[in-house]
Amino acid sequence: MTKLYDDPSTFMEDMLEGFLDANRRYAVGVPGGVVRASEPRRGKVAVVVGGGSGHYPAFCGVVGAGFADGAVVGNIFTSPSTADAYNVAKAASAGGGVLFSTGNYAGDVMNFDLAQKQLRAEGIDTRNVYVTDDVASAPSREAERRRGIAGDFVVFKVAGAAAEEGYDLDGVERVARLANDRTRTMGVGLEGCTMPGADDALFHVPAGKMGVGLGIHGEPGISEEHLPSASELGSLLLERVLAEEPADSSKRVGAILNGLGSTKYEELFVVWRTVARLLREQGYTVIDPEVGELVTSLDMAGVSLTLVYLDDELERLWTAPADTPAYRKGAVAETARTASAEPATRVAPASEAASVSVVEASDASRRCATTVVAALAAMEAVIRSAEEELGRIDAVAGDGDHGRGMVKGVSAAAAAAKRAHEQKAGAASTLTAAGREWGARAGGTSGALWGALLTALGGRLGDGAGDITATDVVAAVRAGADEVIALGKAQLGDKTMVDVLIPFADALEQHVTAGERLADAWRKASDVADEAAVATAGLRPRLGRARPLAERSVGTPDAGATSLSLVARAVAEVLGQR
Ligand code: ADP
Ligand code: MG
Repeated sequence: MTKLYDDPSTFMEDMLEGFLDANRRYAVGVPGGVVRASEPRRGKVAVVVGGGSGHYPAFCGVVGAGFADGAVVGNIFTSPSTADAYNVAKAASAGGGVLFSTGNYAGDVMNFDLAQKQLRAEGIDTRNVYVTDDVASAPSREAERRRGIAGDFVVFKVAGAAAEEGYDLDGVERVARLANDRTRTMGVGLEGCTMPGADDALFHVPAGKMGVGLGIHGEPGISEEHLPSASELGSLLLERVLAEEPADSSKRVGAILNGLGSTKYEELFVVWRTVARLLREQGYTVIDPEVGELVTSLDMAGVSLTLVYLDDELERLWTAPADTPAYRKGAVAETARTASAEPATRVAPASEAASVSVVEASDASRRCATTVVAALAAMEAVIRSAEEELGRIDAVAGDGDHGRGMVKGVSAAAAAAKRAHEQKAGAASTLTAAGREWGARAGGTSGALWGALLTALGGRLGDGAGDITATDVVAAVRAGADEVIALGKAQLGDKTMVDVLIPFADALEQHVTAGERLADAWRKASDVADEAAVATAGLRPRLGRARPLAERSVGTPDAGATSLSLVARAVAEVLGQR
C-alpha cells in the first residue's frame, strides 16, 4: 500500500515540494516540472524527459549534469499536459534545440508532439524520441508499438551524456534513436501497486504466481505464470531479452536489473547473480550493470531486466559521468552549480491557456455562451460523481487514471468557461477557452483529445451575429470529431471514445436533418451514445494504454467511451431545459 500522503489529489505537488527542497543543489521547479539549478551552457542541446509521476527516480531524479536538463512531471501515472511539456522545454532551452524523450504511451506522445509543434512554431528546433524497449508489449514486427519501461533510463542516459559532450541536436537525436533500437526489456510483476488514497491495489497477483510482461503504470502482466525461484527467474528474463539480440551484436552489453518499487535490493542482487553468470557463460561482457530502482511503479513488487547492445559510441555514453539527485557516476566537472538557500522557482513563460481574447461577441452568441457554461457545469457534476467508476473501468486493462484526469480537465474547463463568459465572451470563445484549459491542465490521452475536441467545436461556431442553429451545432460536433481522429488516429472498432463520438455525431446529424429541435436531436443522439458505450465492452482495444492487455479488456466497456456518453447525456439535460 501507498500509506503516507496528505491530500491524495495533490500527492504529486506535495512530493515535488519535498523533492525540490531536498535537491536544491540540483534542480529548481518551473511550471510543469523541474530544470537543472545551474544555468545552462549556451548552445547546449536541452534533453527534456518526462511522463507521469510514480516512477521515481524517473523522471525528476535524473535531472543534473551528464543527464537530463529538465523533467516534465505529470500526475501519478498520467501523461503531463501539453502546456507542462512546453513550459519545461522553454525553461531548459539554451539555444541548441530540445530533445524530448518519454516512454511510448499514447498520452505522452500526443502531448509531447503538440508541445513540439508549439516550440517549432517559435523557432526552437525540437525532436521527440519515444522509448519502445518492452518486448512483452508487442511482437518485434510491431516494435514501434511497444511501450517504454526501464529502457527509458538507457535512452535518457545516452542522450544526456551526448548533449553534455557537446553533440548538436541531430547528433543527440541520432544516438537516442540508436540506444532505443538496441535496448530490450522484459519484466515480471509480483504484486500490484496502490494509488495514494485508494483502498486497494490496482491489481493483485495470486499467491505462487507472477504476472509476466509487467507495465509500469499498474498495468498487470500480460500472462500469469507459476512463480519460480530467483535463479529460474533470472534465466527466464535473460532468455526472453536475448531472443531479440541484434544480428550485429558486439557481445558487449549494458544492463539494468530494475526493481519496481517494493522488491528489495537484496532480492535483486540474488536474481542478478544468475543473470551475470549466464551472460558471462554465453560470452558477453557486461559493462557497468545497474542493479536497483531506476524506473519504478509506486509500490509495485516486481523486477525487469534490460540489456543495451553497445557499440563504441554507446559504451562511451553509457559509462560517462553523471551527477543527479538519484543517480551519480564518476566525477562530473560542472562549474556553475549553485546551492541556494531557498528552493528557487525559475519563472517560465506562462502558457497562453489562461488568456481569452474577447472579440465583439454578438448578443446571440453571448446567450449561447450561457448554455455552454451551464453544459460544462453539468459535465463537471456528472464526471465528478462517476470519477471512481471511470477509474475502475480504466484499471481493468489501462492504468486507472481516467476518472482523475477527466475531473481535472472538466473542472478546469468549466472554470475557464465561466471566466470567459463573465468577460462577455461569445459561445465560440467560451468553448475555445474551455478547450485550451482542458488540454493544458488534464494531461493523459483523454486530456489532449478533449482539449482538441472543445477547441475545434469553438473554432467552428464563431462569435458572430445571428443565433447558432442546430445545423451549426452538427457541423461543430463533426469538426470536433475530425480533430479527435486527426490527433489520435483511432478508427471505429479500436475501442476508444471514437466508438461513441462517431455514432453520436451521425445520430445528431440525422435527427437535425429530419427537422427536429436541437434538444430532441441531442437527446436521441445521447441514447445512441449510451448504447455505443455499452457495446465497446465487446471490443478488443487496438490503441492506447489498454492495447497490450487486450484480452483482459473484453467484457468491460472503454473508459473514454463511457465518460463521453455520460457527458453527452448531461448536455442533453441542459439543452432540454432551455
Ligand atoms: P491514458 O490512456 O493516457 O491513461 P485516460 O485514461 O485519461 O488516458 O483516457 C483513456 C481513454 O482515452 C481510453 O479509454 C480511450 O477512450 C481514449 N483513447 C486512448 N487512445 C486514444 C486514441 N488514439 N484516440 C481516441 N481515443 C483514445
Ligand atoms: Mg488511463
